[in-house]
Amino acid sequence: MTVPAGGFASPGEGIPFPLLRVESDAALPAEADVVVVGGGIVGVAAAYYLAREGQRVALVEKGWVGAEQSGRNWGWVRQQNRDERELPLARHSLGLWGGLDREIGADLGFRRDGLLYVTDDAAELAGWERWVGMARGYQVHSRMLGAAEAAARVPGGARRWLGGVESPSDGRAEPTLAAPALARAARREGATLHQSCAVRGLETTGGAVSAVVTERGTIRAARVLVAAGAWSSLFLRWHGIPFPQTGVRATAFCTEPAPGLFRGGLSTPGFTVGRRIDGRYTVSIRGRGRIELTPQGLRYARQFLPMFRARWSSALSFGIGRSFFAGPEALARWTLDGVSPFERTRVLDPAADEALVRAALTAMAAEMPALRGLRVAHQWGGWIDSTPDAIPVISAIPARPGLFLASGFSGHGFGIGPGAGRLAADLITGRAPSVDPRPFRHARFAEADLGAPAAM
Ligand SMILES: Cc1cc2nc3c(=O)[nH]c(=O)nc-3n(C[C@H](O)[C@H](O)[C@H](O)COP(=O)(O)OP(=O)(O)OC[C@H]3O[C@@H](n4cnc5c(N)ncnc54)[C@H](O)[C@@H]3O)c2cc1C
Repeated sequence: MTVPAGGFASPGEGIPFPLLRVESDAALPAEADVVVVGGGIVGVAAAYYLAREGQRVALVEKGWVGAEQSGRNWGWVRQQNRDERELPLARHSLGLWGGLDREIGADLGFRRDGLLYVTDDAAELAGWERWVGMARGYQVHSRMLGAAEAAARVPGGARRWLGGVESPSDGRAEPTLAAPALARAARREGATLHQSCAVRGLETTGGAVSAVVTERGTIRAARVLVAAGAWSSLFLRWHGIPFPQTGVRATAFCTEPAPGLFRGGLSTPGFTVGRRIDGRYTVSIRGRGRIELTPQGLRYARQFLPMFRARWSSALSFGIGRSFFAGPEALARWTLDGVSPFERTRVLDPAADEALVRAALTAMAAEMPALRGLRVAHQWGGWIDSTPDAIPVISAIPARPGLFLASGFSGHGFGIGPGAGRLAADLITGRAPSVDPRPFRHARFAEADLGAPAAM
């Protein structure tokens, strides 16, 4: 592993950008009160809050903390355009982000610099307007913008828009810092961290969870949180627990350091851009991605059909690729004493879509001439894990006492990561839940009506 000065690691093995490094603990504990499977933002946040409450926590990560979705996202911490069922959690999470830097003594890059969306699409604008009205009931005060205001809000902008919406109380945090810094804080609170250590499965006694089997040994534990991102469905299926989950391959990139034209985040139909604290921009295109046909996708096709129908547009491409044969959605068989699919793919590192990178650069140059000529420093793909209704599961699994799941964040889990981790910790310890957990129950997939899919 290459470790440049400043504690950033580019392990070479599938992390195409510098990611803050976290030390691991030397030995696995024989026993823990709670084992957390997965060191993304959700798993580390849960581990942090559990450790603060005096629980003996072991956080086990097959690769490196933050190396999958949680290090690859745009960093947007938003209430704006959230599904109504997620708004209380988004508000709670925003509050946590606001205090975490001071609480843990590290900069997670969180800045409440606002988010701005502009469009030429009348239907999209009308949808935003309805959302603003609904969100007011939750004390979320986003503001609709007319054409002149929207144009004026885009710094150095060269286009006129039909309108837009701005959310001044939203912001951005830094994906390459946040999960690792929070994992360091969890260790300081007493959690142990085990990286490059895949969890192969669970042992049960009388139907209840009794131990976690990793590639390096067994940890006795009566409570386990599966926060394994895109791998959660595969992990649970091995235990006979269905969890409908499918992936969308997304692309993003960051530029070389560039003039500080604005702070916060901006989304136009042609590109999405966020100003980072290291003076670069993270860029992508909203809603664009590739749905790949996989054995897991076929297994849950019926449940995902309404979402695909609602979302089907030229923005999403469809195809078959490597993911059919390897990774979280492929067919896989393993035993607890043999190599599992989790250790065969330490870091899920899908290729970036070059065409999408070029399209975003072209649109940015045309719409914001001041950012013309920016060079790409790093580009990457990310595997977004989605549920059929595009909101997560944060829930006990009643069929397997001691087992909890926090996964399926459907392309917007970074912003609600701290709140999701807090809620998962509440459910595990039996504390009064910080927000109503009912919308996030696992059992809803077995019920008739999931409701309309949320925006991703
Ligand atoms: C390009 C892109 C842009 C995005 N933009 C935003 C945004 O701006 N705002 C936002 O809120 N969200 C955004 N998201 C979504 C967000 O990144 C995710 O919802 C969130 O990071 C999910 O966190 P997680 O902890 O559930 O999963 P992950 O970060 O994927 O972490 C899961 C971890 O579990 C580990 N793991 C899996 N199986 C095992 C096992 N058996 N044993 C041990 N470890 C295991 C994996 O290695 C991984 O590190 C974006 C996503 C992408 C890809």
